[in-house]
Amino acid sequence: MMGAHHAACGAAAWVAVASTAPYTLGWYPVSPLGVVAGALVCAGAALAPDADHHDATIANSLPPVSQWVCDAVGAVAGGHRNGTHSLLGVAVLTGVAWAAGHLTVDTEALGELALGAGVLSLLLVAFAAQALRLGGNRRLHAWALALALAGFVTVAAPTEWTWLPVAVGLGASVHVVGDLLTTGGVPLLWPWEPRPPRWWRRTPVLRDVWRSGGNVALPVLGSAGSWREWLMVVPVGLYATYGVTTAVAAGTLTSLGYDADAVLGRVVELAGAVVATAAVIGTAPLPG
Ligand SMILES: [Zn+2]
Repeated sequence: MMGAHHAACGAAAWVAVASTAPYTLGWYPVSPLGVVAGALVCAGAALAPDADHHDATIANSLPPVSQWVCDAVGAVAGGHRNGTHSLLGVAVLTGVAWAAGHLTVDTEALGELALGAGVLSLLLVAFAAQALRLGGNRRLHAWALALALAGFVTVAAPTEWTWLPVAVGLGASVHVVGDLLTTGGVPLLWPWEPRPPRWWRRTPVLRDVWRSGGNVALPVLGSAGSWREWLMVVPVGLYATYGVTTAVAAGTLTSLGYDADAVLGRVVELAGAVVATAAVIGTAPLPG
């Protein structure tokens, strides 16, 4: 999958899991700030497995340092679409986020600061902002946006970072699943990469699911960047935008003293009624 598509899927997954707005799952509810910041962190984490690739979004985020880092990751993980695209890779990334969350410093002026979480989030949000072009095409804008968000949460709401390993684990998983849906597949059980027997490699369909190199795939999206991938990503991107917008609205309403859940529920209900009415009108036969 393309970088921006991975990022959009990561943001949408966080919205589905962490928001409590209508049309979300609300399995891991967080504050409206947590929905917005987490969507960007999760989008960034959904790019992280491609840090094994010299030309990916991450490698181009802060050259030449980011390219050296990506070359090193690629060397350790056995090249592109290897270790970082496995269950072990997801576990390692989640562990790094968990460890980063425990790195705090006590300051006299600002109290306890979530330093590790702040730095990790700064990186992930900067990756997401660049992949999703949130700062236009300017690399500097993406870093400025990331710095503002990470700095704000680190200083103003350090306890907000408790969800960091969840967002990173979810984002990395979404990436691996995304690539699993393309023809190349992923080595889920890396470093164990069993190859299929010869008769399997000669059988249509079977050879696309367990590939000769050992990768597994459910190639419903076709090749990376295909029209099918685009078809899936447009509604996913709209859903992520919906989730972040409702979270911003909920945060604003709550700070103004309103019952945000009730107001938003009513707005979404009304919007649904308008869409249903428009659909009825649109499909009705013309008079005469
Ligand atoms: Zn990938």
